[in-house]
Amino acid sequence: MNQIHTKCLIIGSGPAGFTAAIYTSRANMKPLVYAGHQPGGQLTITTEVENFPGYHEGVTGTQLMADLEKQAARFGADIRQGIITSVDFSQHPLRAIADDNTEITADTVIISTGATARYLGLPDEERYKGMGVSACATCDGFFYRRKRVAVVGGGDTACEEALYLSNIASEVFLIVRKDYLRASKVMQRRVEEKANITVLFNANTLGLYGDDYLEGAQLVEFASTDKERVYNLPVDGFFLAIGHKPATDIFRPWIELDEAGYIKTEGQSTRTNVAGVFAAGDVADPNYRQAITAAGSGCKAALDAERYLTEQGG
Ligand code: NAP
Repeated sequence: MNQIHTKCLIIGSGPAGFTAAIYTSRANMKPLVYAGHQPGGQLTITTEVENFPGYHEGVTGTQLMADLEKQAARFGADIRQGIITSVDFSQHPLRAIADDNTEITADTVIISTGATARYLGLPDEERYKGMGVSACATCDGFFYRRKRVAVVGGGDTACEEALYLSNIASEVFLIVRKDYLRASKVMQRRVEEKANITVLFNANTLGLYGDDYLEGAQLVEFASTDKERVYNLPVDGFFLAIGHKPATDIFRPWIELDEAGYIKTEGQSTRTNVAGVFAAGDVADPNYRQAITAAGSGCKAALDAERYLTEQGG
């Protein structure tokens, strides 16, 4: 096994991880970044980002992340395309094992592992995964040219996925469990203005059907009321956009999490309950979850880590 020591290990490579890498590398901390399962984070599976300050004409998520990575690399961050599989925060230096056969010891760790897509929990979702079921329209939308698709959810992600798919598929059905969309007004308006998007309010998914590939979803509307109706919606694609789960499983033995699995941080800092371990981005933020807030907290984590090292005389 390879051994490596670093002043700062950054786990995850979304806007939080790369911003932490920019700041720590400029502070001469020579950070080691493990970029994770989805290098670049969730933004690499989104479409146009119109609200990241500085990009006045918008930027694709992939381009934004490539720019942040280049900026971090420019100041000497060691960026590796691997996954941290376990950590041991019981002593100092802190320890981590990576899937490229590396054992890392670190004076500080910044956790910026983000969050992954949630599924409804229907057994049929597993059955049709990759054969009609997806949680990423940008990744899989291409396969549904001129086909009928459904998107589940009523937030900004669901609207964004529905709009993206509406330019590829013939018809898009947005399955919303309440009688309103939670998405921002601008996204709601864009969805309303699209002729080939139909919003199905008060609707829930009971199951999916099809022989080898997905052929449709069984829905119930107005469940448990006198207006209840169960019906089949024929669709070739079924996209989940119902929120995210923070990627915190490997930290659970050491780091305090809230009920939903998000990392708890102290006050306005990025400090966790373990000295020298900091958390930034969506992994510690159930509220804002924006690229710019993640980047901001990545900056805070880098400054917190630097101050911690100074206090330790490092
Ligand atoms: P979200 O805002 O939490 O919305 C999740 C949606 O899924 C809600 O409509 C929710 O319904 C629905 N849902 C949850 N569990 C469900 C279930 N079991 N069955 C059916 N529906 C279910 O998540 P998000 O859309 O991923 O957005 C996360 C954050 O990122 C938000 O702050 C959002 O503004 C932001 N975002 C911004 C942009 C942008 O600005 N371009 C793009 C994407 C995301 P209820 O409303 O009934 O709870």
